[in-house]
Amino acid sequence: MLMALMEKHVREPKIAYFSMEIGVRDDMPTFSGGLGVLAGDTVRSAADLSLPFVAVTLMCRKGYFHQIIDDSGHQTALPVVWEPSMLMTTAPVKVSITIEGRRVYIQAWVYFVESLRGANVPVIFLDADISENSPEDRGLTDSLYGGDLSYRIKQEAILGIGGVRMLKKLGFQVKKYHMNEGHAAFLTLELLHEYKKDIEQVWDESYIWDIETVRDLCVFTTHTPVEAGHDKFSYELFNQVLGDYFPEKVLQKLAGDKNINMTLLGFNLSKYLNGVAKKHGAVSENMFPGYRINAITNGVHSYTWTCESMKKLYDKYLPGWANEPELFVRIGAIPDEELWEAHMEAKKKIINHVNSISDVGMDLDTFTIGFARRMTAYKRPHLIFSDIDRLEKIGAGKIQIIYSGKAHPRDKEGGQIIETIFSYIQRLKGKIKIAFIQDYNMEIALRLVSGVDVWLNTPLRPLEASGTSGMKAAHNGVMNFSVLDGWWIEGHIEGYTGWSIGPATSDIRSDADMNRIDAEDLYHKLENIIIPAYYNDRKTWTRMMQNAIGKNAYYFNSHRMMRRYVTEAYIR
Ligand SMILES: *Cc1c(COP(=O)(O)O)cnc(C)c1O
Repeated sequence: MLMALMEKHVREPKIAYFSMEIGVRDDMPTFSGGLGVLAGDTVRSAADLSLPFVAVTLMCRKGYFHQIIDDSGHQTALPVVWEPSMLMTTAPVKVSITIEGRRVYIQAWVYFVESLRGANVPVIFLDADISENSPEDRGLTDSLYGGDLSYRIKQEAILGIGGVRMLKKLGFQVKKYHMNEGHAAFLTLELLHEYKKDIEQVWDESYIWDIETVRDLCVFTTHTPVEAGHDKFSYELFNQVLGDYFPEKVLQKLAGDKNINMTLLGFNLSKYLNGVAKKHGAVSENMFPGYRINAITNGVHSYTWTCESMKKLYDKYLPGWANEPELFVRIGAIPDEELWEAHMEAKKKIINHVNSISDVGMDLDTFTIGFARRMTAYKRPHLIFSDIDRLEKIGAGKIQIIYSGKAHPRDKEGGQIIETIFSYIQRLKGKIKIAFIQDYNMEIALRLVSGVDVWLNTPLRPLEASGTSGMKAAHNGVMNFSVLDGWWIEGHIEGYTGWSIGPATSDIRSDADMNRIDAEDLYHKLENIIIPAYYNDRKTWTRMMQNAIGKNAYYFNSHRMMRRYVTEAYIR
């Protein structure tokens, strides 16, 4: 049955998209946040656009965690239990790779991401949990970003090396390999093996590796300027885990003298490199001097990230919008009152939800700010609390705030931030209503980005490579109020599509200074511009909602993003 479904896929050469995490759906907990959700949107748009596409990722049976938070804001991470066989089937083939001298077998689960237009994209989940393997090896694909460096390099070997072997074994022909981040960069080494030149008497080993052919086949997207986001492994660890899989002398030229830098490896073996927003492309070029790094700004999947009431409205006035988000250019055709009503319907949903899970007692008419994303220091989730008395003075009775987000279990500072937010919730009780929704996921994300009035983002420049949740908000007519970093530098027109916080991105000073300067501007605009506009100037407000859709959603969608990958990266 599965192989029959696969048949049409293996007949046509594919773009193979490798990603450590892919957010296909909430009940497949194989993603942790922005990177995975973007990968999911990539696959969804590829399906809608009928691109010849196949995705490869890991079968994380333990998933990313469920979050529970106690009254003091302390986060506990619970394992997610899920059963892949409820959602997909395995292919009747296996491949193996040698890890620490042992042969580790890998099987593949295949899930088809269906487009409403009839096409689909297979997503291959690589899985080491099979009886041929030792108990320890069976756990190798279980945990997303879990374990130590040794666990991590084994996972990346399974993804990169095992992934290439699995595609081949399944019969796929691949015309481009797209690495979504450095996690998959070992695939380049497997391709070097595959295209090894057959030279009988090799006097210099470097001549047998056909680097140019492999470069022509590969595309690499880097996703973060945060140093820790670029995986590095010692040669000692590599040799211990992968033995003589690849000669160290050659690898040193490709991945770095001292360490194996997975980003560098991907860079050196890809003809096309890109960052995920214009600014991020430039920042990455500074991080990696000597490389030409292009920019394809991220987008989100329009149909997935538009709430029900807005979908209805767009269907009525802009039929075909989901597959042609350019139709948002006609947003002015939607009457103001209907746009407002559709928004209020979404707002009612999130307010009711908050009131059903907490005793915060939010109301529909109060101006509501949303903030939800990974809880980590550079995103500064608590910047709005910098001057608590001032916030109280500005906001008492006039604003309410909804938070959501997980901290990576090893990110102690991130966990601390959640506790800090909880302490401020207590401190402002009776004055400003603030809720924190546990266990952030895609469903909560959609409810939030569509149901609040303004979407807040306060990252420390230049560390937000792109950000995508703000694009989701724009799809629902929700304006961004954000630091000028990542995509917002491109999407922001002051007082028109939303509002900036703080100075332009080039104007960077010490972290402490930036916290002060940004907080000052945040308070100033909230008090003098945004709150008054919300309560006193419905006309301007709905006009800005239209602009968020007509300018931001029109452009920052994954259909546009994929068309650019096709024309700039895939068919070259
Ligand atoms: C969109 C999304 C993200 C990314 O949010 P950013 O603000 O871009 O960091 C993270 N997690 C989930 C569940 C999402 O839907």
